[in-house]
Amino acid sequence: MLTGKNYIGNTLSSKGEITFKTFNPETNRENDVVYSEASDQEIQQAVNLATSAFASYKNLGGIKKAEFLNAIADEIEALGDELIQTYCSETGLPEGRAQGERGRTVFQLRSFAAMVKEGSWVEAAIDTAILDRQPIPKTDLRKMLVPLGPVVVFGASNFPLAYSTAGGDTAAALAAGCPVIVKSHPMHAGTGELVASAIHKAAEKTGMPDGVFSNLNSSGIHVGIELVKHPSIKGVGFTGSIKAGRALFNLASQREEPIPVFAEMGSVNPVILLPEAAKERGVDLAKTYAGSITLGSGQFCTNPGLILGIKNNDFSQFIDSLSDEILKIDPTCMLHPNIIGNYEKNKALVASQPGITVKADFENDVDVNYGRQTILTVEGATFLENSVLHQEVFGPYSLVVQCESKEQLAEIINNLEGQLTGTILAEENELSGNQKVIDALQNRVGRIIYNGVPTGVEVCPSMQHGGPYPASTDSRFTSVGIHSVKRWVRPMSFQSWPDALLPDALKNENPLKISRLINNISTSDSI
Ligand code: NAP
Repeated sequence: MLTGKNYIGNTLSSKGEITFKTFNPETNRENDVVYSEASDQEIQQAVNLATSAFASYKNLGGIKKAEFLNAIADEIEALGDELIQTYCSETGLPEGRAQGERGRTVFQLRSFAAMVKEGSWVEAAIDTAILDRQPIPKTDLRKMLVPLGPVVVFGASNFPLAYSTAGGDTAAALAAGCPVIVKSHPMHAGTGELVASAIHKAAEKTGMPDGVFSNLNSSGIHVGIELVKHPSIKGVGFTGSIKAGRALFNLASQREEPIPVFAEMGSVNPVILLPEAAKERGVDLAKTYAGSITLGSGQFCTNPGLILGIKNNDFSQFIDSLSDEILKIDPTCMLHPNIIGNYEKNKALVASQPGITVKADFENDVDVNYGRQTILTVEGATFLENSVLHQEVFGPYSLVVQCESKEQLAEIINNLEGQLTGTILAEENELSGNQKVIDALQNRVGRIIYNGVPTGVEVCPSMQHGGPYPASTDSRFTSVGIHSVKRWVRPMSFQSWPDALLPDALKNENPLKISRLINNISTSDSI
């Protein structure tokens, strides 16, 4: 049963005066439950609890942390239909999507559980002493990854489960040993509260310290700002717009003690259709891309928002087919009136720029809050000159750029901002002749795709979800897959430290039986 309250550690609390409701975009009505925004006092309590929880949580062994993460997954599954119905009522997304996202969330939690149980993720490196080394003795040095401290995770509007309360950022931070305070996304506060209740139950069942997790409601930016500014917070995870991500990054950098903000932000995910592929498969690719652009009403950070090709009859045929195919697809509900409002506004801004042609714009009547799909085209030279055309339009939209030559295509790619993904649609025999284009794309992206679509982000260790700024604030890290744990840790060396006082991962005997780098050799042997 939803209460509308905040979880301050184990305690349900509603001391604040600001209240708000979530909105059902499908029925165009507010939902019933009244949510209480966390007050400054509640924010302080959550941070105090997280700080004291850190003292014990950071030292918990992998087996205990794995029990906790697996218990969260179990409790989320046990929420059953109530979670699915609440999710749908706050997003307008269909049940199948809710179930899929729940599966992904549970899978992520279990993946991190397996990682911490096995234990080698701490990257233990040991260099044993050489006391008779000349001209000076070498000391014993041992290094491993240790947690940063309490962190804040901002729920993402477009992933109420997989990138919100118990999503990838939270799972990774808990795996690392960091207590988490979630700044719940106001559009899906109910989904957030249900998941928070599952984490709370899991924490109690597995004996976790009070404050290892808190969930704070907010209807505006105040709660997030107070959390990021708080001196006891040591890191921030965020998914959303460039404007908000950058504001949080600046805020964190201006603190007396700056802290990292791992923000995954906008991306237009350029797709390059090379001439042979346009000739051989243009019509099929148009159909595939009409599906990718409209998937989830285009509300994915990997949505293909920019398609580039070289002007000729085959590319024109592709554009015509894409425009026909996309208009055959029924529009779907977007997440919130604000999201659809932004979509319409940003789309209109691009459409009003000189040199833009509207190739497809769904004109039939649609239900309120449904996103109309749109394809626009522009010449390469015009695109190069106008940075408005380079910006993300979050929704079922793509801009097709017709380039004069492959040199102009490479120049455009070199002028793009950093991206999460880049895609090459090509026949194998034309790859070698387009190496400059491919190299340029590789410099701009975190993931390069050959003959596929950028939507659909597999959760696995080899996935990179993050790219050069502004795709993310730190391109060295991923926000998807178990390696995302590295955002929440720092390396720490122990010099000449007594064996009995070392963390288990660094002890001579190797009680955890993990893989370690000992004197530059990878082994799970003891010393
Ligand atoms: P958002 O504007 O990025 O906001 C995300 C969260 O950050 C919200 O909880 C918001 O708090 C908070 N926030 C915003 N500005 C802030 C600031 N200056 N200081 C502190 N906190 C701040 O995203 P959204 O509301 O979910 O969606 C708005 C737009 O973001 C979309 O239309 C879309 O363009 C973009 N978006 C992009 C992606 C992507 O993957 N590329 C994903 C989601 C959204 P409050 O809501 O409480 O004000």
